[in-house]
Amino acid sequence: MSAEKTIPATLIPGDGIGPEIMDAVTEILDAVGAPFAWDKQLAGMAAVEATGNPLPPQTIDSIRHTGLALKSPLTTPVGGGFKSINVTLRQEFGLYANLRPTRTFVPGGRFDKIDLVLVRENLEGYYAAMESYIPVGDDPHGIATGAGYNSRAECNRIVRFAFEYAVKHGRKKVTLVHKANILKLLTGLFLEEGRKVAKEYEGRVECNERIVDACAMQLVIDPWQYDVIVTTNLFGDILSDLTAGLVGGLGMAPGANIGEKAAVFEAVHGSAPDIAGKNLANPLALLLAANMMLEHVGRDDLSKRIESGIRAVITKRELLTRDLGGNNGTREFTAALKQHL
Ligand code: NAD
Repeated sequence: MSAEKTIPATLIPGDGIGPEIMDAVTEILDAVGAPFAWDKQLAGMAAVEATGNPLPPQTIDSIRHTGLALKSPLTTPVGGGFKSINVTLRQEFGLYANLRPTRTFVPGGRFDKIDLVLVRENLEGYYAAMESYIPVGDDPHGIATGAGYNSRAECNRIVRFAFEYAVKHGRKKVTLVHKANILKLLTGLFLEEGRKVAKEYEGRVECNERIVDACAMQLVIDPWQYDVIVTTNLFGDILSDLTAGLVGGLGMAPGANIGEKAAVFEAVHGSAPDIAGKNLANPLALLLAANMMLEHVGRDDLSKRIESGIRAVITKRELLTRDLGGNNGTREFTAALKQHL
């Protein structure tokens, strides 16, 4: 099918399995006529090898121009003292909301029919990395300290994002997840702003509250009670891997980093160097991220078509990649998925 490529978007093939899964994803996007006109740019080790810089200015300029990027995983260069590229992108573009949907695709597992969304604050909290050592006796690292901060403005913005997401996607309930019983100020401020925002949505979206440790337990015992969860940076990081684990692990987990001027879509997993170049990688997490990108630009029609293709192919276990219990390589799985679109 010939696609009208009218929406400029940055494409970062990434490292390790990145180029293989990106090829698979763009093949599927082309097959449904997705509207993206790709501007291919480097980041990660591929960029270090080509330019000496893990995040070249051309890549930043491209995202600034398109406001939209599909990014494969990047290998974090070791030994060079580079700042995490993901963190740099978040800060550069103010990508304050990390959106991680969790849905069951492989039926018959321990957790069937899960459909929840976790919204994580992406810029503040303990990830501000204000860390230091205090010497004790002759040990210069006798005590390690770390501080975090949450601003009222950002707490308000992230909770509002979660409620707006709920309204737009017909979701019924937002759960504010915090630890305000212990971190009374740091996460108390989040809860205070959360309650304020929740009041504005009364009658449209239900709101409840959970302490993070209780939430972790309930997510394992009864995840179906959750709809949209919104929480601060560190809690969101941990809980979102927990929720990915409910539905078949990181191979099925997409994520979006959303700001006011740009949005970057990616798989939650890393560059999987152990299987890179072996035609073994599962492209579904990146494909589900591409689906979120289609929804972001209003092409729900195409994302639904891809999703029903995934749901059809996934019932035929032998067609899947090995991490999902099948026998296929990345290329063979992609060809099989194309047949089901
Ligand atoms: P990883 O997610 O790359 O791999 C963990 C395990 O899961 C490996 O056994 C791998 O083979 C498997 N796996 C991951 N994705 C898979 C897929 N799509 N299909 C099949 N199997 C898959 O985590 P890691 O080994 O800790 O990290 C490797 C590199 O990736 C590191 O350099 C790390 O810094 C980087 N990383 C990048 C991102 C990102 O760019 N968003 C995220 C996490 C890790």
